[in-house]
This record gives sequence, structure tokens and C-alpha cells, in this order.
Amino acid sequence: MKVILARDLLQANSDQAQQNRLFFERFGVVSLNLISSPGAGKTTLLEKTLFLLKDKVAVGVIEGDIFTDRDAVRIAGLDVPVVQINTQGTCHLDARMVARAMQELPLAELDLVLIENVGNLVCPAAFDLGEHYKIALLSVAEGSDKPAKYPGVFQRARAVVITKADLLPHLDFDLDACEEELLEIHDSLEIFVTSAKSGSGMRHWVNWLASLTKGPLAGRV
Ligand code: MG
Ligand code: ZN
Repeated sequence: MKVILARDLLQANSDQAQQNRLFFERFGVVSLNLISSPGAGKTTLLEKTLFLLKDKVAVGVIEGDIFTDRDAVRIAGLDVPVVQINTQGTCHLDARMVARAMQELPLAELDLVLIENVGNLVCPAAFDLGEHYKIALLSVAEGSDKPAKYPGVFQRARAVVITKADLLPHLDFDLDACEEELLEIHDSLEIFVTSAKSGSGMRHWVNWLASLTKGPLAGRV
């Protein structure tokens, strides 16, 4: 019996991811991998983000879902190029899935690709997709102790978007403690406090995204 170690699978994934990254870079495209638990509001944040961003930045989307194409249908409604990856039960995207999906996007016309990972805070953190940065989302409905419980994703993230901030008055979520905890895990994290519903914090987040496409990641200085 041949035993395949998880380490080897992860190595193969990392090799493919590195190729994906080079492929994005060949087209001057910045790529981001959005990770959160289910229901943190990734698709809703994406919809609002695309609405505010798409006139400034040419953006494409790769939508990961376990079974349905509902999120991709929502994004396609915004007139943005979108490719659906249906993982058929797998609880995370991997670099090979993204390698196939990115071929379907008009990369030569794009500045930014946003990859919505499957809702899961654990294994998506371990699978490099070839993104430049991981972005973690955390909704205030989840409780402010998520970073301490799932440090892996927050350690590897470049930015954290705290979502559904309009709910703060109804919850015991301690925003200051949460931000402090996040910075303890990773002291150079960018933290955005947003509500896709009210629009608060969205400009700041969208401007940061736009700035990534004008910087060294995109081959521009
Ligand atoms: Mg979604
Ligand atoms: Zn998984």
C-alpha cells in the first residue's frame, strides 16, 4: 500500500499555486483569496464591493461553492466576469481548481481577481491557490473570539474585513477586544470594519483594493 502524506499533497498544491501566481502576474493581475466561515457575508460583501469598484478597476470573480451556483448567479447579475467552481462536496478550493477556472477569465482585460473560497475557516487557510493575499472575513454575529479559536487563517491573512457592523448595537461583540486580538496574532494586519448593508466602511475597503492594483503586486510602481 502506498501512503500519500498530507505533506506531499500540500507540496503539489503549492507548486501549482506558484504557477497560478506567475500566470496572474504575466497579465498584471492581482489576486485575492476570500476566506470565512459560512454565512459571514462573503458574497454580500463581494456584491457591494463590485458595485463600488467595477467602474474604477477591471475585476473578475472566481466563485467557490460546494454544490450550488447561487452565488455565481448573484455576481453575474453585476455584469462582472465570473467563473463558478463547484467542488462537489470538497470543503475548500485548491490550486488545481483555480488553475482551470482562471483560464475561463479574460485575464488580459483584468486588474484584479477575487476568489471566494468555500465557507470554512479551517482548511482553506492551508491551501495556497496562487493568490497574492488571503483576506479573512469575520462577521460580528460570530463572536469576537473567532481569531483566538482559528488563528491559522488570521495569521496568514493580509487583511481582515469585519462584516455586518450594522448589527453591533444588538450584539455583545467587543470590537476593540477583537481588533486587539487580531493584531496580537498578526501585527501588520489591515482591518476594515464594514457593513455591506449600510455601506459604512465600504469606501475605505474598496479604496484599499483599488490601491493594490496600482502597486508593485500588479507590476506597477
Ligand atoms: Mg457565498
Ligand atoms: Zn477542506
